[in-house]
Amino acid sequence: MTDTLIPTRDASLAAIASLSLRTRLFIDGGFRDAQGGGRFTTENPATGKPIAEVAEGGPLDVDLAVAAARRAADDGRWSRLNPADRKRLLIAWADRIDAHREELALIETIDSGKPIADTVSFDIGETANCIRWHAEAIDKLYGQVAPAPEGIVATITHEPLGVVGAVIPWNYPALMAAWKMGPALATGNTMVIKPASYTALSLLRIAELASEAGIPDGVLNVVTGPGASVGEAIGRHDGVDCVAFTGSTDVGRRFLHYAAEGNLKRVLLELGGKSPQIVFPDVTDLVSVAANAAIAIFMNMGENCSAGSRLIVHRSKRAALLEALEVEVANWPVGDPLDSSTRLGPLVSRSHMETVLRYIASGRAEGARVVLGGERVLAESGGYFVPPTVFDGVRNDMTIAREEIFGPVLSVIEFDTEAEAVALANDTPYGLAASLYTDDLHVAHRVARDLKAGVVGVNAYAEGDQTTPFGGYRLSGFGGHDKGVQAHDQYTETKTTWITLRSRP
Ligand code: NAD
Repeated sequence: MTDTLIPTRDASLAAIASLSLRTRLFIDGGFRDAQGGGRFTTENPATGKPIAEVAEGGPLDVDLAVAAARRAADDGRWSRLNPADRKRLLIAWADRIDAHREELALIETIDSGKPIADTVSFDIGETANCIRWHAEAIDKLYGQVAPAPEGIVATITHEPLGVVGAVIPWNYPALMAAWKMGPALATGNTMVIKPASYTALSLLRIAELASEAGIPDGVLNVVTGPGASVGEAIGRHDGVDCVAFTGSTDVGRRFLHYAAEGNLKRVLLELGGKSPQIVFPDVTDLVSVAANAAIAIFMNMGENCSAGSRLIVHRSKRAALLEALEVEVANWPVGDPLDSSTRLGPLVSRSHMETVLRYIASGRAEGARVVLGGERVLAESGGYFVPPTVFDGVRNDMTIAREEIFGPVLSVIEFDTEAEAVALANDTPYGLAASLYTDDLHVAHRVARDLKAGVVGVNAYAEGDQTTPFGGYRLSGFGGHDKGVQAHDQYTETKTTWITLRSRP
């Protein structure tokens, strides 16, 4: 988070009137129309009104983008730059993103419904931070020399893979792209990226800023368009050496098929979750637990892969925690995302709102009780608003406790013993994140070790930060992690060079 000033609603409305949106494909350093000439409409989910017509790319456009990325990869204009120069260019790009923070935050807010307070202070700042952080590592990571026999020098070095494809979801459009672009570009790869169609606008502007910062043509290409054509074409393309995907588990699986049926490209998947938050009976500060539990499930309208959607609470604390949650929810106003005090904007689309409302109906039908929220609100705005919703009396076998809802819907589940809490927490096909609340060091370490999750927060909802890897166990991920220096390795090949020295004459 940064202390950037959040603009007032009036200031945002004035700025929107003068926004110049980039809506065409960004290939080889310039904007161009899709070859098929098609366009699709992107709308503002807070009003249901159209914002812009975006180029609808297809497989031919992916061919063009991959060819540009291939040329840029093969001629070394990026991979063979002095690492210090690659670092300088990426940092110049991050600086430009920071300089355009308010513009990019507005674009993100009107396209996705995310509150302006979040996009200004978090999404765009973290996007720049992520790119800068990976860039700063470029000239500080070394290869190795193996303990080889006399007369041999054996080096172990990392080389870029070549062309990295990336397919991105709509929940953190700029930031999820940065989690791929930061390490993939830092390690010398070139890229072809497809944003989600609901939220394509910010990435197009960010790609243009890369070019303005001096990143060579062809290094970063953006192809907008449907997943079933553009996403699949990237996944199947033989000119792509690696594909990094963030999105649903169902679509993630397809990338493994695409790769298996083609060039066996490397596949990195960051997928969904159904993350538990466990509250042990020794906890006394339930106000703090409620505040963290609310962040875990209501932040970003619950459209968060690591959302803490199952609150697994000891029987002795359930009633008091529910009371604390009711008080806490007053701190989560739902409304116009351009209003600086809003913490929950609309869901990303009408169809996604309908999915979330169907899950709420299924919770009721299966016998859970809605104690907060539960109905669409602010329908007169034309937007897709669902308020913070809490179900009590949930069993872990109910649909709302098993499937990823991707909305602001929390299920409260009771337990009696530590073993039962761990069993409930792990009783999910996913394994992305988990949190636990206890003042007992022994419980904290024991349970953190038992939880099948890639990120465990103790006494707070936490995803770590830029320095720590983020990724999931089981159906939540495959092949790698985002963030941390560990992310650099996954975008490189490891090469052994075995050098035999001639004997001294
Ligand atoms: P999605 O899987 O529907 O779409 C993700 C991307 O894949 C989009 O760009 C989409 O156009 C594309 N796509 C769709 N069908 C495709 C196909 N047949 N072939 C190739 N590409 C295709 O996911 P979403 O609805 O955009 O995002 C929500 C999901 O993302 C949730 O499951 C969430 O948990 C997950 N997510 C995970 C992380 C993480 O780091 N683990 C982060 C954010 C979101």
